[in-house]
Amino acid sequence: MKFGRFRHKEGEMKTYYGTLSPEGTFINVIEDFDFRDLDYTGRQYELTELEYLPPVQPTKIVAVGLNYKDHTQEMQKKLLDEPLLFIKPSSAIIPHLGSIVMPDVSKKIDYESELAIVIGKTAKNVKKSDAKDFIFGYTCLNDITARDLQAKDIQYTRAKGFDTFAPLGPYIETEINNPSNLELKGYLNAELKQSSNTSDLIFSPFDLVEYISSIMTLYPGDIISTGTPAGVGALNHKDTFEIEIENIGTLKNFVE
Ligand code: MG
Repeated sequence: MKFGRFRHKEGEMKTYYGTLSPEGTFINVIEDFDFRDLDYTGRQYELTELEYLPPVQPTKIVAVGLNYKDHTQEMQKKLLDEPLLFIKPSSAIIPHLGSIVMPDVSKKIDYESELAIVIGKTAKNVKKSDAKDFIFGYTCLNDITARDLQAKDIQYTRAKGFDTFAPLGPYIETEINNPSNLELKGYLNAELKQSSNTSDLIFSPFDLVEYISSIMTLYPGDIISTGTPAGVGALNHKDTFEIEIENIGTLKNFVE
C-alpha cells in the first residue's frame, strides 16, 4: 500500500493522511492515523486536487554514511566495520515536488539518492530478526549535502542540516518484504547518475534497526536513511533531481 500525507489545494488548509488507489488516481482518506490501524473515512480525493506533504513528521532522521562500497571508494574512505551515523533535523524535510534552496554559504551542494526506512513502532534494543515488526514501510530520501562544509567542519550537522536538505516521499510503501533487493536510481535533469541495488548495502535495513535501536529509542515515524551508492554529484540552480526506487516510486524535487 502506498501511504501519504496531503493538503487540499483549495479551500481549508486541512491535512489528510491517505493511501493511493490501485489505479494511482485518487487518495482514500484515513481517520486519525496512529501507525496502527488504517481506518478509512470513506472519503476520496482526486490526486490532482491535492498537494503532497512529507508522508511523516519524524522526531529525527538517523542517516548512515558510507554504506555502499562503491560510494566509500569514490569518497576515498576506508570501509567501515560499524555503521557511521549522523542526524539530520526534521526541519530539513520537504515534500515530493518541493524546492531545495542552496544556502549562500556553500559553493557545492550534492544530491544523494537513498532508501529510507520508516519506523512504525517504538523500537529500543530490537534484534535484527525482529526488525521487520518495527518497520512501517519504506520511502525515498535525498540526503542533500553541502560537500564543501562537510569537508571543512568534519562534523556533519551543518553540511547536512540546512532547511530543505531532506526531500522525502512521495509515498511510504508498506508492503515490501525484502528491502535488501530493490533497484535504486538517481536522475539529474533526467540523466541517470546513480544506479545500484539495496543488495549492495554494507549494513542492511534490518542490521541498521538493530544497531541504531541499541543506541537510541526510535519512535513511530522516525526515519533511517540507509546511505547512497556511487555517482553523487553537484546540484545547481534550476536542476531537477529524481530518486526512483523499485516498488516504492519516484521522488522529484527542484533546485530553487
Ligand atoms: Mg547520505
